[in-house]
Amino acid sequence: LVSRETQAEDTVVQVGVAAFGGGNFSVIAGPCAVENREELIELALQLKACGVQMLRGGVFKPRTSPYSFQGLGKEGLQFLAEAGAAAELPVVTEVLDVRDLDLVLQYADMIQIGSRNMQNFGLLREVGRVKHPVLLKRGLSATLEEWLLAAEYIVAEGNRQVVLCERGIRTFETATRNTLDISAIPLVKQLSHLPVVADPSHATGRRELVPPVARAAVMAGADGLMIEVHPAPERALSDGAQSLRPHQLEQFMRGLPALLQVR
Ligand code: PEP
Ligand code: MN
Repeated sequence: LVSRETQAEDTVVQVGVAAFGGGNFSVIAGPCAVENREELIELALQLKACGVQMLRGGVFKPRTSPYSFQGLGKEGLQFLAEAGAAAELPVVTEVLDVRDLDLVLQYADMIQIGSRNMQNFGLLREVGRVKHPVLLKRGLSATLEEWLLAAEYIVAEGNRQVVLCERGIRTFETATRNTLDISAIPLVKQLSHLPVVADPSHATGRRELVPPVARAAVMAGADGLMIEVHPAPERALSDGAQSLRPHQLEQFMRGLPALLQVR
């Protein structure tokens, strides 16, 4: 079902003011994790002002250590929804566990399935049965075929609103957090009609690499970007090293229209 052979035209996924695919390009930005209400509202307004189309923020965080900050849960969902409403931006957040799905559906406009859950087949089936669009991140070590078959689980249940997200894969290289598989962007678009966005934040793990890698993804044909932004990355509770400061995102956004023009 996700193959180009069954559908030649690009799938367009519309989420409020954001749209992906079929020539539509949108930027999703926000903190790795929702941390506090006031800062998130202020950040959402700044993001809206610089041309972002969707707000992100994790409230259920898939942390390597069980002792690291795990997210604010339900309270975080309320802050995220409030910030999205204040800035008139749709919101996306990750669901880690099927038991939280009903709750997340009440607050989020789009459901994120993170890398670590790309092959959580029970969770994929459940999000396949809801009406919300789904952002499906590529697994840490998933092949393109495994990634597309994970999308197939969702679409096979009836939910055709799936956006794929290339967020880097594990390689032998340790200088960056992951390695962005740039060729995956045009190749997945050749194999599938689903939109593909790139996440240069998790792909690199390093703030200074985010703008150049984001530009490369745009030129490779991405239908959007997901970028982590924090008002004060040095005190972020997760992923501070890869989070842009708001003025850095603003600068990146200023250069984006010219890139989209020439590609
Ligand atoms: C995230 O987007 O917050 C996240 C945890 O990403 P990934 O699943 O790609 O590691
Ligand atoms: Mn993160």
